[in-house]
Amino acid sequence: MQIASDAGPNARHENSRFTRDGEYAQSCLEAAIRENRDWAYLGEWHSHPIDVGPSPTDTLSMAWVAEQDAYAQPKPLLIVACKTSANKWLLRAYARWSKRGLRKIPIIDEDRRGV
Ligand SMILES: [Zn+2]
Repeated sequence: MQIASDAGPNARHENSRFTRDGEYAQSCLEAAIRENRDWAYLGEWHSHPIDVGPSPTDTLSMAWVAEQDAYAQPKPLLIVACKTSANKWLLRAYARWSKRGLRKIPIIDEDRRGV
Protein backbone atom coordinates (compact mmCIF):
# COMPACT_ATOMS: atom_id res chain seq x y z
CA MET A 1 0.00 0.00 0.00
CA GLN A 2 1.43 3.37 -1.01
CA ILE A 3 -1.05 5.93 0.29
CA ALA A 4 -4.24 6.17 2.31
CA SER A 5 -6.28 9.33 2.27
CA ASP A 6 -7.85 10.89 5.32
CA ALA A 7 -11.63 11.14 5.65
CA GLY A 8 -11.92 14.60 4.12
CA PRO A 9 -13.28 17.90 5.41
CA ASN A 10 -16.94 16.94 5.01
CA ALA A 11 -16.70 13.48 6.62
CA ARG A 12 -19.14 12.70 9.42
CA HIS A 13 -17.72 11.04 12.54
CA GLU A 14 -20.31 9.67 14.94
CA ASN A 15 -19.99 7.11 17.75
CA SER A 16 -21.52 4.28 15.78
CA ARG A 17 -21.30 5.56 12.23
CA PHE A 18 -18.77 7.06 9.89
CA THR A 19 -19.36 8.61 6.49
CA ARG A 20 -16.34 9.69 4.51
CA ASP A 21 -16.26 12.75 2.28
CA GLY A 22 -16.78 10.86 -0.97
CA GLU A 23 -15.95 13.75 -3.27
CA TYR A 24 -12.69 14.38 -1.42
CA ALA A 25 -11.75 10.68 -1.39
CA GLN A 26 -12.46 10.38 -5.11
CA SER A 27 -10.27 13.40 -5.88
CA CYS A 28 -7.43 11.89 -3.80
CA LEU A 29 -7.76 8.60 -5.68
CA GLU A 30 -7.81 10.25 -9.09
CA ALA A 31 -4.79 12.44 -8.26
CA ALA A 32 -2.77 9.46 -7.01
CA ILE A 33 -3.52 7.36 -10.08
CA ARG A 34 -2.90 10.30 -12.42
CA GLU A 35 0.56 10.80 -10.90
CA ASN A 36 1.37 7.09 -10.61
CA ARG A 37 -0.10 5.26 -13.58
CA ASP A 38 0.90 1.81 -12.31
CA TRP A 39 -1.01 2.25 -9.03
CA ALA A 40 -4.47 0.86 -8.49
CA TYR A 41 -7.24 1.29 -5.97
CA LEU A 42 -7.13 -1.45 -3.31
CA GLY A 43 -9.97 -0.62 -0.96
CA GLU A 44 -11.19 1.34 2.02
CA TRP A 45 -10.12 1.88 5.61
CA HIS A 46 -11.60 3.33 8.78
CA SER A 47 -11.49 2.77 12.52
CA HIS A 48 -13.82 1.08 14.99
CA PRO A 49 -13.90 2.32 18.60
CA ILE A 50 -13.91 -1.32 19.78
CA ASP A 51 -12.47 -4.56 18.39
CA VAL A 52 -15.35 -5.76 16.24
CA GLY A 53 -15.49 -7.03 12.70
CA PRO A 54 -17.13 -5.37 9.73
CA SER A 55 -20.62 -4.03 10.27
CA PRO A 56 -23.51 -4.83 7.94
CA THR A 57 -22.99 -1.32 6.52
CA ASP A 58 -19.32 -2.14 5.88
CA THR A 59 -20.32 -5.28 4.00
CA LEU A 60 -22.87 -3.41 1.90
CA SER A 61 -20.43 -0.59 1.21
CA MET A 62 -17.76 -2.97 -0.02
CA ALA A 63 -20.30 -4.75 -2.23
CA TRP A 64 -21.21 -1.37 -3.72
CA VAL A 65 -17.54 -0.51 -4.33
CA ALA A 66 -16.96 -3.89 -6.00
CA GLU A 67 -19.72 -3.19 -8.48
CA GLN A 68 -18.49 0.27 -9.52
CA ASP A 69 -16.58 0.34 -12.80
CA ALA A 70 -14.74 3.49 -11.68
CA TYR A 71 -12.88 1.60 -8.93
CA ALA A 72 -11.91 -1.33 -11.19
CA GLN A 73 -11.57 -3.53 -8.10
CA PRO A 74 -13.99 -6.48 -7.92
CA LYS A 75 -12.48 -7.71 -4.61
CA PRO A 76 -11.73 -4.56 -2.62
CA LEU A 77 -9.95 -4.73 0.72
CA LEU A 78 -11.35 -3.29 3.91
CA ILE A 79 -8.80 -2.34 6.56
CA VAL A 80 -10.24 -1.61 10.01
CA ALA A 81 -8.18 -0.10 12.82
CA CYS A 82 -9.79 -1.50 15.98
CA LYS A 83 -9.26 -0.12 19.46
CA THR A 84 -8.80 -2.96 21.93
CA SER A 85 -9.85 -3.16 25.57
CA ALA A 86 -6.15 -2.62 26.40
CA ASN A 87 -6.39 0.76 24.63
CA LYS A 88 -4.15 -0.32 21.74
CA TRP A 89 -4.91 -0.22 18.03
CA LEU A 90 -4.91 -3.34 15.88
CA LEU A 91 -5.31 -3.52 12.13
CA ARG A 92 -7.76 -6.05 10.75
CA ALA A 93 -8.11 -6.79 7.04
CA TYR A 94 -11.04 -8.17 5.11
CA ALA A 95 -11.57 -8.92 1.45
CA ARG A 96 -14.82 -9.10 -0.38
CA TRP A 97 -14.87 -12.81 -1.02
CA SER A 98 -18.29 -13.32 -2.49
CA LYS A 99 -21.41 -11.35 -3.25
CA ARG A 100 -22.60 -12.19 0.26
CA GLY A 101 -19.77 -11.17 2.47
CA LEU A 102 -16.28 -10.28 3.56
CA ARG A 103 -13.58 -12.67 4.64
CA LYS A 104 -10.91 -11.88 7.23
CA ILE A 105 -7.42 -12.07 5.77
CA PRO A 106 -4.06 -12.01 7.58
CA ILE A 107 -1.85 -8.93 7.67
CA ILE A 108 1.81 -9.73 7.30
CA ASP A 109 4.22 -7.21 8.75
CA GLU A 110 7.35 -7.57 6.62
CA ASP A 111 9.41 -5.65 9.19
CA ARG A 112 8.54 -8.15 11.93
CA ARG A 113 8.95 -11.32 9.86
CA GLY A 114 11.59 -13.56 11.36
CA VAL A 115 11.75 -11.68 14.65
ZN1 LIG B 1 -16.76 -0.40 9.98
